[in-house]
Amino acid sequence: MRQVVVVTGIPGSGKTTVCNLAKEIAEKDKGKSLSVINFGTVMVELLEKKGKHVHRDSMRKSDLQMQIQLQKEAAETISRRIAEAGNDVIVDTHMCVKTGRGFLPGLPRHVLDAFKPDLFVLVEAPAEEILSRRVKDKSRLRDIVLKKDVEEELLFSRLMACACAVQTGAPVKIVINEQGKQKEAALKLLEVMEL
Ligand code: AMP
Ligand code: MG
Repeated sequence: MRQVVVVTGIPGSGKTTVCNLAKEIAEKDKGKSLSVINFGTVMVELLEKKGKHVHRDSMRKSDLQMQIQLQKEAAETISRRIAEAGNDVIVDTHMCVKTGRGFLPGLPRHVLDAFKPDLFVLVEAPAEEILSRRVKDKSRLRDIVLKKDVEEELLFSRLMACACAVQTGAPVKIVINEQGKQKEAALKLLEVMEL
């Protein structure tokens, strides 16, 4: 049975690195095909089709109704790609998005209905490490916040994960991505996927 796994992590958790590494290991070392679909990238592509060029880290600061509409369109696009893929799929996204008007659920009911996930994986790291990754990452417009803000984001993500588990009946696994141990985290992710 092919599976749809939703992998989430707050900015700076390293979820994209872990997802891409898991794909590489699955394909090169295990001979299994695995697709990784990045929700944020699909949103940026949809905006570009509309002639709007918005930085991926600025989207969550834009108009909330616009984000909600884009989230809906992205979920529809991704659900089509999941159907086309035919193999195991990881959707790289967020449990919640920190907008100017509060935490927006990354996986509201209609998104869950579109994806039908079998498993949720939360990629986490110690708050201090997340903070220092945000400071060092020059390729992104990461928010520089306090440790307590990172802890709040981690907590909200876990709370949202509980809600997603109850809505879908799918379990939640936490994978710790410690500094310099991305490979271990990727292997852990593959292990929970039974790949
Ligand atoms: P990322 O590269 O994963 O940090 O995602 C970039 C941006 O895409 C996020 O900061 C959000 O603005 C947006 N995004 C990603 N996933 C979702 C989602 N499920 N719902 C709404 N916005 C999302
Ligand atoms: Mg990412």
